[in-house]
Amino acid sequence: MTERPPRRQSLGMRLMLATLGFCLVFTLCAAAYQTWSAWRAGKAAMDADLALMERMYGSALAKASWDLDRDQIATYAEILSQAPWVGRVDISVRLPVGPPLEYQRVRPGWTPSSVTPVHRSQLRYEPFTGRTEAVGELRLFGDEARLWRQLREALLGIVVRQALQSLLLASLVMALFHRLVTVHVRRIARHLAQLTPLNLGKPLTIERASRRDDELELLVTGVNQLQNNLSDYLERQQRFEQELAAHRDRLSELVQERTAELETLNRQLEQLSRTDSLTGLANRRSFDQVKLAEFQRARRGGQPLTLVLCDIDYFKRYNDTYGHAGGDACLQAVAAAVQGVAQRGADLVARIGGEEFAILLPGSDGATGLAVAERVREAMAALAIPHAASEVSAYVTLSLGLATLQTDIDANFETLFRRADQALYQAKQDGRDRVRAADLPQAKEPS
Ligand code: GH3
Ligand code: MG
Ligand code: MG
Repeated sequence: MTERPPRRQSLGMRLMLATLGFCLVFTLCAAAYQTWSAWRAGKAAMDADLALMERMYGSALAKASWDLDRDQIATYAEILSQAPWVGRVDISVRLPVGPPLEYQRVRPGWTPSSVTPVHRSQLRYEPFTGRTEAVGELRLFGDEARLWRQLREALLGIVVRQALQSLLLASLVMALFHRLVTVHVRRIARHLAQLTPLNLGKPLTIERASRRDDELELLVTGVNQLQNNLSDYLERQQRFEQELAAHRDRLSELVQERTAELETLNRQLEQLSRTDSLTGLANRRSFDQVKLAEFQRARRGGQPLTLVLCDIDYFKRYNDTYGHAGGDACLQAVAAAVQGVAQRGADLVARIGGEEFAILLPGSDGATGLAVAERVREAMAALAIPHAASEVSAYVTLSLGLATLQTDIDANFETLFRRADQALYQAKQDGRDRVRAADLPQAKEPS
C-alpha cells in the first residue's frame, strides 16, 4: 500500500476559511439580534398603527353609529381593513332594540394570533354637551402575516449584506496574506531546499517594493546569519582536516624515516655484534655461528674443511716492551695481514682470543690450508714489525696449527678445533714461528 503524500494546505486559504467561519458565526449572531429587533419594532409599529387608526376613525365611527348610517359604517370598516397593519376589523353597533349590528372585514389569509396586538375600544358619542352615549365597539386585530413578511425581508437584507461583506473581507485578507507572506515564505522554502555546502555563501533575498522591518525581515536575517555561521564552521573544519592530513603525512614520513634509521642501526648493530671492535675482523661470536654451519655443510656435502689457528709469539712481552697501545696497533696490523691472505669468498678470518686468530677455510683440504698458513707466515715476515723481546725473531711472528676435517674422527667441530689447537701447541713447542698440521707432514721450518 503506497502512502499518499500529505495534502498541502495554503496558509492564505486557511486564513480565508477561518475568516469566513468567523463571519458566518458573526452573521448568525447579528441576524438573530436584528431579527429579534425587527420583530419588536414590527410589533411596536403595528401597535402604534392600530392605535392611530383607533384615534383617527373612533369619533367619526361613533357619529355614524349614532346616526345608524350603515353605508358610512361599512365604508369606515373598509378603510380600516385596508390599513397596512390591520388583519381584521370588527364593528359592533348597539341598537335600541335587538341584537347589535355587526360589521366584519378580514384580510385574505388572516388567522387569529396570540402574538399580534388586539385593540378594543368603546365607541362613545356626545349628542350634546353633558351626555355621552356608548354606541358600539371597535376591535382591530393586527396582521401576523404582515409581521412575518417584514421580518423575512429584513432578514434577507441582513444575510445578503453580511455574506457579501464576509466574502469581500475574506478575499481581501487572503489576497493581502498571499502578497505579504505566502509568496515570500515559498521563496524562503525554495532557497533553503536548494542549499548545499557549496552555495552557503549565496545570501537569501526576498523581493519587496520597499524594505520593511518586520517578521519576514527577521527571518531572512536569521537564515543569512545561520548560513554565514555554517559556512565559517565548514571552512574551519576543512582547514582542520587539511592540517590533520598534512600532520598525518608528516607523521608517516617521520615513521618511515625513523624506521629506515632503525633498520640501518639494526644492521650496524648486527654488524657490530659480529665484529671485533679493535681489528674489524669477525669476533668469537660470529666465528661460533659460522663454524657450526660450515661444519654441518662440509659433513653433509662431503666437502673438505680446514681450520688454521694463529697465535702471536711472545705477545705478552711485546705489550710489556711497547705498551698496551703498541700491542693494540700490532694486533690491528697482524689482523690485516691475516685477512689479506684469506681472500676467498667463503673464507672466514676471526679474532677468537686476545692475540689468537682463526682461519676457517671451507672447501680447502689440508694442503691448501698449509699453503694459506705459510702465506700468513710470509705476510708476517713481510710486515716486519719489530719485536725486541722475542726469542725467535727480531720481528713479530706467528705460530700456526691447522687441522682438516676427517669425518671418521671429527664427530663435532670441537674435535677438529682441539686437533688444530694441539698442532698450534706443537708449533709453539717446536720453537714458534712455524706451522704445524695435525694430519699432514710437517711444514718446513723457519729459516
Ligand atoms: P706465547 O708465545 O707462548 O704465545 O706467549 P705469549 O706472551 O704470546 O702468550 P700469553 O698467553 O702468555 O700472553 C698473551 C698476551 O696477550 C697477554 C695479554 O697482555 C696480551 N693481550 C691479549 N689481548 C690483548 C689486547 O687486546 N691488546 C693488547 N695490547 N694485548 C693483549
Ligand atoms: Mg695465546
Ligand atoms: Mg702468544
